Amino acid sequence: MPMPEKLTSAVKDYSPHSDLKVIKEAFVFANAAHEGQTRASGEPYINHCVETAVTLAKLKLPQDMIVAGLMHDVPEDTEVTLEEIEEKFGANVADMVRGITKLGKIKYRGMERYVENLRKMFVSMASDIRVILIKFADRLHNLSTLDALKPEKRKRVALESLEIYAPIANRLGMGDIQGKLEDLSFRYVYPKEYEWLKSLVKDRYRAKERYLQNIAEKLKAEIEAHEIPILDIHGRTKRLYSLYKKLLKYDKNLDKIYDLVALRIIVPSVADCYATLGIIHQLWKPMKGRIKDYIAQPKPNGYQSLHTTVYCDDHEMVEIQIRTRQMHDEAEYGIAAHWNYVEEGKESNEIVRAQVNWVKDLVEWQKKHAMRGKDFMEHVEEMKLDVFHARIFVFTPDGDVIDLPEDSTPVDFAYAIHSEIGDRCAAARINNAQAALDAKLYSGDMCEIVTDKNRKSPNPDWLKFVKTHHAKDRIRLATKKKRNGWLPNVFK
Ligand code: MN
Repeated sequence: MPMPEKLTSAVKDYSPHSDLKVIKEAFVFANAAHEGQTRASGEPYINHCVETAVTLAKLKLPQDMIVAGLMHDVPEDTEVTLEEIEEKFGANVADMVRGITKLGKIKYRGMERYVENLRKMFVSMASDIRVILIKFADRLHNLSTLDALKPEKRKRVALESLEIYAPIANRLGMGDIQGKLEDLSFRYVYPKEYEWLKSLVKDRYRAKERYLQNIAEKLKAEIEAHEIPILDIHGRTKRLYSLYKKLLKYDKNLDKIYDLVALRIIVPSVADCYATLGIIHQLWKPMKGRIKDYIAQPKPNGYQSLHTTVYCDDHEMVEIQIRTRQMHDEAEYGIAAHWNYVEEGKESNEIVRAQVNWVKDLVEWQKKHAMRGKDFMEHVEEMKLDVFHARIFVFTPDGDVIDLPEDSTPVDFAYAIHSEIGDRCAAARINNAQAALDAKLYSGDMCEIVTDKNRKSPNPDWLKFVKTHHAKDRIRLATKKKRNGWLPNVFK
């Protein structure tokens, strides 16, 4: 099977710095690994890997990420190992695939627990945003093929996308990905509400879109008469789930939603944005309190644009959004777009260097943009980021995640599961290999504890290496008891 044309053209069109030869090699490698495997829908498994890679190419992400996207299910679902991937495609690609594989280890054992486990895992991955971006691309394709799954699993995948993936996309400023995740999930999580809303807006959307087309023509001529080049002008319909959330705030009254369909204008510079706003207000009267300058005062997640709602021809109310190309790309693709603007205008050898550092860049950017708003503070509260920074997440053989401080050992892990398991802990296995009780655990490790039923108390020497308070307390307590037990009877 040759590499599908859609991936070739996505790489050529959207990710021009990528080396098609390497991506072809990756395709051949992944295709051979998944040979004979099919998706629940019956199609060849490799289609899923290609779709994931296409999404990453369209986000103009670096070549290594497209390769990792093709490879993301290989270690988990085939005989090929991470070591082989590393040998063939380098440590960078292998690191990303390793991250994705760790996320996949979480098993489903009740929704509440699962969401909690997943959330912890995501926070621990936040240092490598590349893994999260690949996971988004993977999830988008999974959501678009949900019909092939059993209803229960369908709902679970959709709910998790709505509750975890979409808010993270929002935090990273990726409006387009967030919207897609939400709309693909909406119908499975709230089927009744989805049908209700869809039928409610169907005719309105259609009528409004037709109306906007005429308005756009007229406005375009007017703006160009003032010698402002229009890069793009298009109507955008509000995404269904975002509309649903807004409706809940406005007594489910559609007449109170002014931006059901909005007109979006992209112009070259900030000065052009303000000039365009002036032209619009000369043409149509603006509605009071609806002129918003998010260029001078960006939204907490970094969003920039000018918004106005005007009484258009026939007194129809229309929201118009004006922005530059960069503002537009950042609003839609967030962190991914930022990478592209960093890259632009650099010498090719510098691009390579920038690629090495890009995660650092993105993390910094994310901090700068996301820290400003209340929205992010809510997330910090919710996820307790400060605590998580110095913490690791270790799997039990059942797929539960145990949350421990950095440098924890199998003994800490044993005590975190249950005090008695800690007391009777005799040996440990990390990732299916024999390990010392004082071995250092890392995020994503799977740890297994072997207990000795005959053992009544812990070894006091463990105090030399355990990290958790809980383990220390238990060991001290048991040691004290034991010492008392050694005392001659007369002293008792
Ligand atoms: Mn996948």
